[in-house]
Amino acid sequence: MTELQHLANSSLRGTFSRDVPMSKHTSWRTGGTAERMYKPADLDDLLGFLRGLPADEPLYAVGLGSNLLVRDGGLRGTVLLLHGTLSALHLEMDGSVYAEAGVPGAKLARFAALHDLRGAEFFAGIPGTLGGMLAMNAGCYGSETWERVLRVQTVNRRGVVHVRTAEDYEIGYRHVMRIEDRGSRIEEREGVFQSSILDPRSSEFFVAAWLHFPAGDGESARQGIKALLSKRIASQPLNLPNAGSVFRNPPGDHAARLIEQSGLKGKQIGGAQVSEKHANFIVNLGAATAADIENLIHEVQATVERKTGVSLQCEVRIIGEAG
Ligand SMILES: Cc1cc2nc3c(=O)[nH]c(=O)nc-3n(C[C@H](O)[C@H](O)[C@H](O)COP(=O)(O)OP(=O)(O)OC[C@H]3O[C@@H](n4cnc5c(N)ncnc54)[C@H](O)[C@@H]3O)c2cc1C
Repeated sequence: MTELQHLANSSLRGTFSRDVPMSKHTSWRTGGTAERMYKPADLDDLLGFLRGLPADEPLYAVGLGSNLLVRDGGLRGTVLLLHGTLSALHLEMDGSVYAEAGVPGAKLARFAALHDLRGAEFFAGIPGTLGGMLAMNAGCYGSETWERVLRVQTVNRRGVVHVRTAEDYEIGYRHVMRIEDRGSRIEEREGVFQSSILDPRSSEFFVAAWLHFPAGDGESARQGIKALLSKRIASQPLNLPNAGSVFRNPPGDHAARLIEQSGLKGKQIGGAQVSEKHANFIVNLGAATAADIENLIHEVQATVERKTGVSLQCEVRIIGEAG
């Protein structure tokens, strides 16, 4: 399929683009181009787009791209860009927070503080969208996204909407998989996800969630957010493009400690470097290719395994074709 014919004479209101450099949509600021990209105007528009989509069109959900490496050969198919859209955010009558998938973590944290709710502060430090945070069960400082979920709203690639609860998913540390999908589509080799059609582990993606936060006081929440952000500035290399922690922490240990112990701090391949400031971060020194980053990931995994016996698993998602 070379064209999405249904775009030409439809009433779709979103933005369609071709050959979009994914370096503009990933926090590592590198990677190949997406053949097609669709940014829906809103949820209804997204459903319309999906309903007209050919069944064989590869589809990728992308939020802020803060946990994503797109290989230099780019992506065949369509990226659904959900950042900067699907941004509804309001309090429901029952006191829960309804947020669409494009809402950034910082906005969610500030919204909860504004409404004197507590427990959303940690979202402020995660530079992702709610959709990406649900997909990753993102978390920090002892809190995780799914601890706050009452229900999620999902859409499948035919544009059918479902409301689901945590019982429908297997949820763990940086791990979320719909129970129905277990065993069907995972393709994980050497601790790295090799491909992705939508999320490689799900036939649906997230378009919204209802979250619950206990009553608190806005001022303490705002102070909490401030403290958390200062902690991050002090410990993370935020001045260079990165994707947060590259590897999951193995049970009872820290990936950063193992990487440092293996003598890898500052290790460089092309323009990619294991951060001097935080060993579980790989930074783009300016001209890193996705291949530089992926090769460095493999090098870190091999060295850490050789020196400590621990096999580090990738937390970042790697998708697309090799360059
Ligand atoms: C400086 C920095 C600090 C970070 N700190 C943390 C941290 O403390 N804790 C933490 O957990 N993470 C952290 N991260 C990683 C990242 O921010 C999180 O994983 C975040 O949840 C990714 O959200 P996103 O919208 O950018 O997702 P993307 O990177 O765009 O996508 C990530 C994955 O989620 C899938 N996805 C995206 N949207 C949807 C959707 N709507 N439905 C289904 N699947 C979807 C994508 O297909 C992809 O597989 C950090 C990253 C950076 C750059």
